[in-house]
Amino acid sequence: MRVAVIDYSLCKPTKCNLECIRFCPVNRSRRSSKAIEIDSNTGKPVIYENVCIGCNICVKKCPYNALEIENLPDELSKLAIHRYGKNGFKLFGLPVPKKGEVLGIIGKNGIGKTTTIRILAGELIPNFGDKERKASENEVLERFRGTELFEYFQKVYSKKIKVAHKIQYVELVPRYLSGKVSTLLEKADERGIAIKLASELGLSPVLERDVKNISGGELQKILIVATLSKKADLYIFDEPSSFLDVRERIRIASLIRELVPKESYSIVIEHDIALLDYLSDNIVVMYGEPGVYGVASKTYSTRSGINHFLDGYLPAENMRIRKEPIRFHVSEAPPQRHGGKSNEIYIEWRDFTISLDGFRLDVKPGSASKGEVIGILGPNGIGKTTFVKKLVSMISEDRPEDEEIKFSYKPQYVSPEIFEKKTVEENLINANPQSLSTGTWAYEDIVRPFGLYKLREREVSELSGGELQKLALAVSLIKDAELYLLDEPSAYLDVEERLSVAKVIRRLTESRSVAAFVVEHDLSIIDYICSRIMVFEGKPGEHGFANSPMELREGMNKFLKILDITFRRDPSTGRPRINKKDSYNDREQKRIGEYYYI
Ligand code: SF4
Repeated sequence: MRVAVIDYSLCKPTKCNLECIRFCPVNRSRRSSKAIEIDSNTGKPVIYENVCIGCNICVKKCPYNALEIENLPDELSKLAIHRYGKNGFKLFGLPVPKKGEVLGIIGKNGIGKTTTIRILAGELIPNFGDKERKASENEVLERFRGTELFEYFQKVYSKKIKVAHKIQYVELVPRYLSGKVSTLLEKADERGIAIKLASELGLSPVLERDVKNISGGELQKILIVATLSKKADLYIFDEPSSFLDVRERIRIASLIRELVPKESYSIVIEHDIALLDYLSDNIVVMYGEPGVYGVASKTYSTRSGINHFLDGYLPAENMRIRKEPIRFHVSEAPPQRHGGKSNEIYIEWRDFTISLDGFRLDVKPGSASKGEVIGILGPNGIGKTTFVKKLVSMISEDRPEDEEIKFSYKPQYVSPEIFEKKTVEENLINANPQSLSTGTWAYEDIVRPFGLYKLREREVSELSGGELQKLALAVSLIKDAELYLLDEPSAYLDVEERLSVAKVIRRLTESRSVAAFVVEHDLSIIDYICSRIMVFEGKPGEHGFANSPMELREGMNKFLKILDITFRRDPSTGRPRINKKDSYNDREQKRIGEYYYI
């Protein structure tokens, strides 16, 4: 079976020489049936999957990267659920939500998670891959007769399932909503819990503010409170962790588990694997090719599902979804886990204090070695970014005037104004002239996997929040710098992208013998990437304390003790797992003071 997808927003048949049509071997063989031709109605190409032989020549010839052809196992055709347009994205398989259980979904972005949610919420009637036909609710029920989904869709189509949905892109909220936070929460509050929940999550100081004037983290918490305050039968949380620090992530995960009614369905899409693991009762892995096709796996137990995802192999489907497994190298003790590739000091600082707009930060002495990645952990508003900016100015002061330190910074919040140039291409070339050349590390490791090569002609003002974050991260990583400060590099990235970015950061600091400071709230990424960590404590917005860098185990123990959370290791993959509060492991690890197992 073949899936041929054309991204019509990229396809420009009036500007190219129609290479896709001219070079197609089926077309050239002068058979009566063509595999690809111009549709007389749209003036754009159309690919006939039943004639196409899947040689991929058109994909390689297209100067705008508008085509994708995937050859898939024939068995998948029985699982076709939905198709957008003639040569559009195709979804196979649907997860089965279960009452009273949190269903976690893990997978790359762009492989149909949103489509899946829309179908399960009854917002989209699936056409079962037949894009020519508009399917009806009765047809859907007929298709699922005899399966677990039949009863579920019966309820959905008889309006017995009310949906509460926490959307993915929280920063879009101020564009569509205005008014006081308390008024918006009161409107959403059908269970009489909104204001109490808001105060539990530290939102009391912003209740009287307009929703247009609050931060991403506050917006995230407000939307979670609003969703939990609805009386619903299906609760959907799409990336509930973005913009939240570790303490807030664990808190909202506990609230979701506690407050979603037992007689309701709930679905969580999340890329922080430690959090997803903590939140979910079951896992569905979604795999495929972003923008081309996506497949929902069978339902696995949480531990098995996440481990199979990291292994890159789904046993129930007998399907390899990635060439290499992802492993957290816990047993290794390479030098980089203990103070950088070399122990040669790269930057050193004495204790110092910064006072800024009523905020005070006291910093203990420390150093970073060449090739070292130091993780920075602590709540939002505790001075993490202030600290690294100060380091940069301290290094610059020690240099001759004409020798500025080459510093690369990815801020936490990204807007079009932070970019120096107008288009994606100009910004990438400006950061690294080789970034759009195939075969270079910048292109192969960053620009291509992030899909930025497809957006090269776009202006930054036209990009979505996720695309802006990816561009900002790409620009900061591909720069030839001496010091990197990456504030939440994992924001908006899916699990695979997070882990590949983590590898890039580790590799580039080691190979160039430079140092990186990474502010990150995804503890699996900190664990995967950092040799040492700095723990920031104190009262956000008032007074922060930055401890000296500590070995990973010591630092994590200190940090997790403050949060009163314990982690254990998964024996197969080495990934860190959060212990359920008051479980045997939790109590035992607290007793012996091992909050974090290495
Ligand atoms: Fe023609 Fe299909 Fe080959 Fe494209 S992949 S060149 S449409 S046969």
